[in-house]
Amino acid sequence: MPNQTETRHPIRHFASAADYRKNFIVREQIDKYLPAGKHFVDEKEIFGKLDAASGTQPNDPARVRAILAKSRAIETLLPEETAALIQVTDRGLLEEMADTALAVKKAVYDNRIVMFAPLYMSNLCVNRCTYCGFRCGNEEQKRRMLTMDEVKQEVEVLAGKIGHKRLIAVYGEHPDTSTDYIAETIRTAYAHQVKSPRGAVVGIRRVNVNAAPLPVEDLRVLKQVGIGTFQVFQETYHRETYARLHPADTVKGDYDWRTTAFHRALEAGVDDVGMGVLYGLYDWKFELLASLYHARDLERQFNIGPHTISFPRLEPASGTDLPTTSPYLIDDDTFRRIVIITRLSVPYTGMIVTCRERPESRDACVACGITQMDASSNIAIKGYSDFASEQHQEKDRQQFVLSDTRTLEEMIAHLAREGIITSFCTAGYRCGRTGGCIMDALKTGKEGKFCKINAVLTFREWLDDFASAATRALCEPVLNKELEGIRENLPKFYPTVKEHYDRICKGERDLFF
Ligand code: SAM
Ligand code: SF4
Repeated sequence: MPNQTETRHPIRHFASAADYRKNFIVREQIDKYLPAGKHFVDEKEIFGKLDAASGTQPNDPARVRAILAKSRAIETLLPEETAALIQVTDRGLLEEMADTALAVKKAVYDNRIVMFAPLYMSNLCVNRCTYCGFRCGNEEQKRRMLTMDEVKQEVEVLAGKIGHKRLIAVYGEHPDTSTDYIAETIRTAYAHQVKSPRGAVVGIRRVNVNAAPLPVEDLRVLKQVGIGTFQVFQETYHRETYARLHPADTVKGDYDWRTTAFHRALEAGVDDVGMGVLYGLYDWKFELLASLYHARDLERQFNIGPHTISFPRLEPASGTDLPTTSPYLIDDDTFRRIVIITRLSVPYTGMIVTCRERPESRDACVACGITQMDASSNIAIKGYSDFASEQHQEKDRQQFVLSDTRTLEEMIAHLAREGIITSFCTAGYRCGRTGGCIMDALKTGKEGKFCKINAVLTFREWLDDFASAATRALCEPVLNKELEGIRENLPKFYPTVKEHYDRICKGERDLFF
């Protein structure tokens, strides 16, 4: 359980949505991270790097292989190196890049996929992002925020019936669902322990948050209630596009408030931050390189890069035709290229591809370096407790429509057939392995060791508490192979791991390294 000691912070409260819109942004908390008004996303420089890379033999095998060697050595690439990979078009070289991406993932993260589920808490929103079903004024959307009893009901399904341990809690931006509400929902989700179908006491062990940018004081409150990763998607780094899609009279209309969201989070001690571009809004080459400039600035100012990078792509949503008419929509091949180049450019980062994607596209991404996925997802507000199955979706109750509706059990079985182990590990932040500490551990292979052990222990729990006999039979060999790998490669740890493992088999829960 996270530290729940209460300390008062001066969170500001707002009398109305209009008051919030006008006064929420704290200008000094932007300016201090943009010294002399210079932004770390310099459009001219980014276009310049892309142009230079396309002008100088983009398919030169020697140059591309030299860059790939750097990725294999788990080194972060320079912008011009990422730009060079972005401009590669030769099929053979692209496949070498894909193979290297998978090799890098295996070196840092082994053959694990960490599993999580989204939990939509509220769709109240003061903003009018043109691509989003939750935008203010969209009459087709039914509005609601979960009460704490409803949060518990959702947890009962997520933790008690499906077997999830890790959530990404999602919120629109509204004064009624700002920091106090976010903190209360996180506390409630952590505190609600339930029984699995076989009687084990289970619960949510890590709550990540996807919400609007917040001031430092508010982020400190979230740190205190035990937030995992603070995720904010930039949507687009291209200023002119950003301004067109996010009206200037909305909070979200402030590009600089959003681009400095992680600087404030890191200042507040929330040191796992999750980035993402909403692909389809603007040219993917620019967006990908700009997002890496963002990561570099966090490393430069805080010595901590993004804990995760997500790859949302524009999906159909209620009351908007942008997801079908945008000139920048990307196909599956391009999507895969983006995933590959990100893996190669920032080898240590966790990478997430969600149920927005079709199953075939997600499977292709597993094979080139992603580390986290969701399954059995329902993004309708109160969808888990109201709907009987993953296939049930209601456009006017959710932000967009999901494409991959496989259950957690189906996904785990599918991964096991590929020799991949599903991890429900949430130990990192509970042991203080976050931010810069986890980055160093990942770069030197230390974190991989703990992750491997915790993956085995948590997978054992899930198989015992939730799996059908057929899934268990399918997964046991994968699990045994991992355990054997620990015995061979981590002999010093093995006796304690085995002791923990045996205790879990006898019914103890939540033992971790
Ligand atoms: N309201 C907060 C904000 O905008 O930062 C956070 C929650 S918002 C529901 C989460 C993310 O959903 C957004 O950052 C955006 O990238 C994504 N999103 C919005 N509309 C989408 C669509 N039509 N397809 C795919 N993703 C979408
Ligand atoms: Fe609101 Fe976020 Fe949707 Fe924009 S993306 S309308 S801020 S919920």
